[in-house]
Amino acid sequence: MLEVSTILWISVVMQCLAVILALRLIPETGRALAWILISIAFLLMATRRALSLLQQEGYLQNSWLVAFSTEIVALIISIFIVVGVYMIRRIFEQQKNDASQLKKLSLAIEQNPGITIILDTEGKIEYVNPAFTRTTGHELEAVLGKGPDILKPEYTDELTLKRLWETIKAGGIWRGVVRNQTKDGGLSWERACISPVVSKNEEITHYVAVLEDITKEKEQTEAFEYMAMHDALTNLPNRTLFFNRLEQAISIAKREEKTLAVMLMDLDDFKEINDSLGHHVGDRVLREVGVRLGEVIRSGDTVARMGGDEFLVLLPFTNEQQCITFMNRIIQVLKKPFALESLSVEIGASIGLAIYPEDGDNADLLLQHADVAMYTAKNSAESYSRYKKSLGDGILNRLELASDFRAAIEDNQFLLHYQPMVNVKTGMADKVEVLIRWLHPERGLLYPDAFISLAEQTGYMCKTTTWVINNAFQQLSKWKKSGLDLDMSINISVVDLFDLGLPKLIKRNSQYFNIEPSRITLEITESVLMMYTQKSLDVLTTLRNIGVSISIDDFGTGYSSLQHLKELPVAELKIDKSFVMDMIKDENDAVIVRSTIDLAHNLGLSVVAEGIESQEIFDILEVLGCDYGQGFHIAKPMQAKQLVTWLESSSEFCKRRRA
Ligand code: C2E
Ligand code: CA
Ligand code: CA
Repeated sequence: MLEVSTILWISVVMQCLAVILALRLIPETGRALAWILISIAFLLMATRRALSLLQQEGYLQNSWLVAFSTEIVALIISIFIVVGVYMIRRIFEQQKNDASQLKKLSLAIEQNPGITIILDTEGKIEYVNPAFTRTTGHELEAVLGKGPDILKPEYTDELTLKRLWETIKAGGIWRGVVRNQTKDGGLSWERACISPVVSKNEEITHYVAVLEDITKEKEQTEAFEYMAMHDALTNLPNRTLFFNRLEQAISIAKREEKTLAVMLMDLDDFKEINDSLGHHVGDRVLREVGVRLGEVIRSGDTVARMGGDEFLVLLPFTNEQQCITFMNRIIQVLKKPFALESLSVEIGASIGLAIYPEDGDNADLLLQHADVAMYTAKNSAESYSRYKKSLGDGILNRLELASDFRAAIEDNQFLLHYQPMVNVKTGMADKVEVLIRWLHPERGLLYPDAFISLAEQTGYMCKTTTWVINNAFQQLSKWKKSGLDLDMSINISVVDLFDLGLPKLIKRNSQYFNIEPSRITLEITESVLMMYTQKSLDVLTTLRNIGVSISIDDFGTGYSSLQHLKELPVAELKIDKSFVMDMIKDENDAVIVRSTIDLAHNLGLSVVAEGIESQEIFDILEVLGCDYGQGFHIAKPMQAKQLVTWLESSSEFCKRRRA
């Protein structure tokens, strides 16, 4: 009896303990339940065994307790055991699944090409995947327990980092771009998504950072942005970037009540270099100019290439006096000769200056006014000029003027003036130089210096020259019919020298109007001729062969050597007016005039002096043996009708001269 009850109680106590343990220690409800079921089954088995022992011993009278020891109980036990075993099996399967799921996940993270970093709440690294090592060069072991400082986050701006930590510490997800440093010191860009890992009781346990290396993408975007903002030839900022910087500088100057300066610089005679020595030489000059300009600016100043041979300079916080010093320095550095092919060439420049706020209070206006000032400088003896309000009114805005060219040719807005050239020995005005003017519908009468270089730049030069030649021949023919036989000098531009159609144009006009080509002299400026090419030499030779004379205009301002003069089919030298005008005051000028006359005669060339503004000069030139003279003292350029009147009274001039 004792034995049975002991077994029973021990069994009951053991099973109860098992149930309690199962419930307390095994956290998962399913697992606990399975244990409970099996424990109950064991309890039932033990109870049944005890009851059956009691029954055998005859202690058990109670009928329901007898029934308990029967087969029904055995059945219930079996059911409990089956269900319990089934549940335990399910639990083991679940655990297996979980383990394989975990393995899959860890493999996925390991093999993910994106960088994964797991940080604890202190920001210390707990895990990095191999992509991290591949990108940053840091091994897992070396970074464990370290902070993200190892990636030098200081390359990302401070504000971004501050927002990042604020967001994730508050439980949010931060997305953005960070810049890190790799182990070998290189910089990389990463697109990052950093999120907190939150436990069941809503506490942040970790942070997971998933980073995608976008260095290549970023470098490409940066390269595109750079290209959009810089000039490919000189690597200088382009007009767009200059404009942006100018606008920024203006807003700072406005706030701080300071001044700033904008300069627009155009190289002199660059087109000639480009046309005669080729674009590769032109490109070298532009690059070298960019470098030299870069050497004279301070940090904070901007030099940009506007396009063509035009450069822009922005000097913040400056005044007129400092600008003048600066412009002189530019002129000086450009004066250092440029070694081009076998030539050594000095480059001149014309600079226009506009100062904020006096000359304009916005970027557009300042640039426009610097342009007007530059154009004024180009047309004066000075290398630079500051914008004055009066300039803007009369002097053109080149951009507007360019679009007017087409109308000028189509609507016959050009007209020709003629300036007599006097044979110094005979006193006869038997030759005229034809000079173009433009009667602009809004701007009034424009002189060639205001639009010829523009015609060259905008591609209208050849059409303009054709107009001049056609109309000049027509005028010669009219005079010829009225009994006036004159020779004529026509100015042509460097662009025309590359036009193989020019000799044909002269030939056609000469046949049509019945004017001998030998009555025509074409004037080409010396700066153009010093750098002739085979093509321009061919054009000149063809012209000479059909009987046209070639004259070197503005002689003394260029660089032609004796060799050039011998090689070229030239018939005449025309001494530049700057020497002639000042030859009384300036001994150097007098020497140049004298030696040019001698040189021309020694080479068998005729010589013309232009810019004769007084009788005294005319007389000296006569003594020196100059062949032809031209200048305001003799007559100013005038219209065809006035010329006839002047010629009729020109004996007046000759008489005065002889008196
Ligand atoms: P250029 O060929 O040297 O022409 C002489 C310029 O000097 C003319 O100016 C004339 O008015 C001016 N001049 C004449 N005598 C005197 C004088 O005694 N003193 C002073 N101070 N000036 C004098 P313009 O008509 O304004 O022409 C300027 C330049 O424009 C010309 O210089 C020439 O290079 C160019 N040009 C004129 N017409 C044409 C043309 O039809 N085609 C081309 N391509 N260029 C032209
Ligand atoms: Ca001329
Ligand atoms: Ca001239």
